[in-house]
Amino acid sequence: MTLISTNDIDIEKAKTSKITAVDFNNLAFGRVFTDHMFVCDFKDGKWQKPQIMPYQSMTIEPSARVFHYGQAVFEGMKAYKDESGNVFLFRPDQNFERINKSSARMAIPEFPKDYFFNGLKTLLKLDSEWIKPGVGSSLYLRPFVIATEPAISASPANEYRFMIICSPAKAYYSEPVRVLFAEKFSRSADGGVGFAKAAGNYGAQFYPTSLAQKKGFQQIIWTDANTHEYLEEAGTMNIFFRIGDKLITAPNNDRILDGVTRKSVIQLAEDLGIDWEVRRVSVKEIKDAAKNGSLKEIFGAGTAAVISPVSAFEHADEVYEIAEVEDSYAMLFKSTLLNIQHNLSEDKHGWRYEV
Ligand code: PMP
Repeated sequence: MTLISTNDIDIEKAKTSKITAVDFNNLAFGRVFTDHMFVCDFKDGKWQKPQIMPYQSMTIEPSARVFHYGQAVFEGMKAYKDESGNVFLFRPDQNFERINKSSARMAIPEFPKDYFFNGLKTLLKLDSEWIKPGVGSSLYLRPFVIATEPAISASPANEYRFMIICSPAKAYYSEPVRVLFAEKFSRSADGGVGFAKAAGNYGAQFYPTSLAQKKGFQQIIWTDANTHEYLEEAGTMNIFFRIGDKLITAPNNDRILDGVTRKSVIQLAEDLGIDWEVRRVSVKEIKDAAKNGSLKEIFGAGTAAVISPVSAFEHADEVYEIAEVEDSYAMLFKSTLLNIQHNLSEDKHGWRYEV
């Protein structure tokens, strides 16, 4: 895709850059934002001319429907820079398709593909200095859409704002996490919005997750809402199990987010000759495997941490520790993915997208 002429995006450049004030070795995730942001409004039945402007506060009326009915969706993706200064995205077509799937479910108008890609490219060119090379360093990108129409009747808005903001992220070693298998609370229901990256899905997890944290667990592994017998996904990650040498993950359904990292891990397993299965995984199966020693690994997969190993889980007041294995699949997938993302290895599936 060629870059649309900047005539198609109104650009106001920041007069000075904030970058010199940023300590790139001490970045708290999602707190520092780059110099520019992308903004595109929907009104009069269509998406208006996109704009890029200095990152700044904005004025929205208190009656905007996003504040009352949570009509909001988002995406999470990353840009990477190689040692020669080339910038890449990882499978951005997947994020584009997913945000529109999320929007459709939330009665938000879909965003045009050329606006999405040209907005990303132009923004990344302007803020390229903020992307640091080196494995693990990246620029986290947050596209999102909110209902801005000032009218509080409980119906879909006629006005929306699509934005992209960018936050530098540091390479970080993800400590293994201790998790709780959900027994009471649910993240999503059949026929609901679990498959969408709808803002409310995340707000609804904060309370149960804070209870889990008080008990010493960082994350909840959500189970199906009907029976709580089948393991589905984590708060911001899909979940994989290794029993013996077999890799298993739950199938996508309308309760689970169709993760880009998940589908990439499945493809890598296939490429690496690892036996894998997509099927329902029961709590009982994992507890039995933990007891008989065949449960080798549990790990989460998602854009933010890439792969996050699980060191223990709790269910029915019993804690099961998972010993570290030497030939860890989690570490193998993590390094393989990072190498592809940072242009350090062959990209046989065409996942890298040069900006
Ligand atoms: N599940 C949920 C609920 C998520 O929020 C995320 C993060 N987007 C994932 C899974 C992982 O998806 P991805 O690999 O596309 O980041």
